[in-house]
Amino acid sequence: MDCLFCAIAKGEIPSTKVYEDDKIFAFNDIDPQAPVHVLIIPKEHIKWAYDINEENSAVVAHIFEKIPEIARSLGVNEGFRIVNNCGDQAGQSVKHLHYHLMAGRQFTWPAG
Ligand code: AMP
Ligand code: ZN
Repeated sequence: MDCLFCAIAKGEIPSTKVYEDDKIFAFNDIDPQAPVHVLIIPKEHIKWAYDINEENSAVVAHIFEKIPEIARSLGVNEGFRIVNNCGDQAGQSVKHLHYHLMAGRQFTWPAG
């Protein structure tokens, strides 16, 4: 299967790694929309949030367990935003589940 984020998680395509363990990988977004803009992905290929289920949701929980540690390691202490784009209407451009961790500026709501 030809998947950009699977290749990044395996180190086949270079990225700026922020965090890694046996289940997840986090790296800087190539086109940052905030001073801190990290993508957190499961190493296992999950296409999108529609495919989260009882069998694979432990890795999603693991991502959220690690978000505070990743945020603090980047000096984020004034708040952050987590974004998941699921599907074309939401603007998902890479079809491998990922969470954007964004921080370092004031965000608006609702998001555009
Ligand atoms: P989304 O639009 O929610 O699917 O997010 C995909 C994100 O991946 C975008 O913010 C892109 O800037 C980012 N991106 C695409 N290619 C790369 C890459 N090679 N390394 C790091 N980030 C990337
Ligand atoms: Zn993948």
